[in-house]
Amino acid sequence: MKNSYLIKNGNVVSGGTQTKCSIFIEGDLITAVGDAADSNAAGDAEHIDASGCTVIPGLVDAHCHISFDEPKSNDELFFHRRPGLAAMIASVNAQKLLRAGVTSFLDPDCIFDVGIDLRDAIEGGVIEGPRMATGGNVLITCVGGTAGQLLPSEGKLGYAVIVQTGDEIVREIRKQIKGGCDWIKVHVIGLPVRRTKRHNPGEIQSWTLDELRLVCDTAHALGVPVVGHCRNSSSTRDAALAGFDLIFHSSYMEEDALEAVVDQKTPLAPSFTFLRNLIDYGDKIGSDPGLRNIFMNEIEATSAMIRRAYDAGVPLMCGSESGFSVTPYGEWHYREMGIYVEHLGLSPLEAIACGTEAGAKIFGLEGKLGRIEPGYIADLVLVAGDLVQDLDLLGHKNNIKAVFKGGKKIDLSRPLPDNWSIPGWRTGQFSGKTLTYDLANS
Ligand SMILES: [Zn+2]
Repeated sequence: MKNSYLIKNGNVVSGGTQTKCSIFIEGDLITAVGDAADSNAAGDAEHIDASGCTVIPGLVDAHCHISFDEPKSNDELFFHRRPGLAAMIASVNAQKLLRAGVTSFLDPDCIFDVGIDLRDAIEGGVIEGPRMATGGNVLITCVGGTAGQLLPSEGKLGYAVIVQTGDEIVREIRKQIKGGCDWIKVHVIGLPVRRTKRHNPGEIQSWTLDELRLVCDTAHALGVPVVGHCRNSSSTRDAALAGFDLIFHSSYMEEDALEAVVDQKTPLAPSFTFLRNLIDYGDKIGSDPGLRNIFMNEIEATSAMIRRAYDAGVPLMCGSESGFSVTPYGEWHYREMGIYVEHLGLSPLEAIACGTEAGAKIFGLEGKLGRIEPGYIADLVLVAGDLVQDLDLLGHKNNIKAVFKGGKKIDLSRPLPDNWSIPGWRTGQFSGKTLTYDLANS
């Protein structure tokens, strides 16, 4: 017999609208909504009273590094992690996401092959966790990625694999797909030691347009999408022109980049949460105060262009960039939605659609995931209070009354370890403390 639930009296937010209505879940699907839910519900369905609650589709975090375990520096991440232990710890951290209402996420790049192993363990029923799509190691040219000089000029380190020639690019992509990657990720920018007058300030594009096209052609021929880390205008433009399927950051877009993104309808996930956490709470965790203005300017300049892209029909997803000490697991996944309201001027209903339905594309589940409608996968979160009035309600764990993933009600009461002490695992740099919601608001 299938599990079945009748959720009554909740304010149901889905597809940019809100209505007070019932939801009937049978097996892994929502099979009826509204009056039909009440009349179709089988006699043995478990009734859940959602009075006073907002019911939303499960959150989809488009940018979460599940294998990193909240490092405070790249040094910690690259030189103080071990594959077996990283996988075991990721299996606990994945459960924190689920309890925070994240029922699906994309891990674009992982250390070792942790993402692939974790996804398979979740899908195989070994551990409980969100629906997951994963990349392997991010492709970087020897110019480097955001880690600059920490990365070698060949080989692998941390989350990165260094590729140079066309042959190497093609071989690495095919190897990753053979190994089970759902996505290919490219750091389209790098951070050289010495910035030139022409590329000052910030990160510089480290791939040519032809190389980016080769990446897309190779991955797409095997049915695998490509995501790019693009933190300047030219990298965003060329990634869009090359056919990338998702772009992170898309910072400081100029007109030509915006035009390319709009022409290609390339989904964007700017992942402001990481920056905004440092801006708002950096002083509580000992971060460099000099970064505050730089990051606020980045958010403001970028938001104006992203709003134009959104108005032109470019899909906009929410990514928290969780996985660092500034963005620990299970704490900040919801925050991007509020930032879209504040900086892009989206309505809360639009922002919730970005944080849920828009992410279905990551899995190729458009029309099946991210709404509360008959025939959709039963991923739901019940939040105490009126979430449309206050998106921050999702930050308080006590407000999360129930989480369903694929029709299965998650046990929120079973304790999870939330801190561990492992010799040689932690070093200090990004911050002295971990920025939890409670600390931020203390
Ligand atoms: Zn990232």
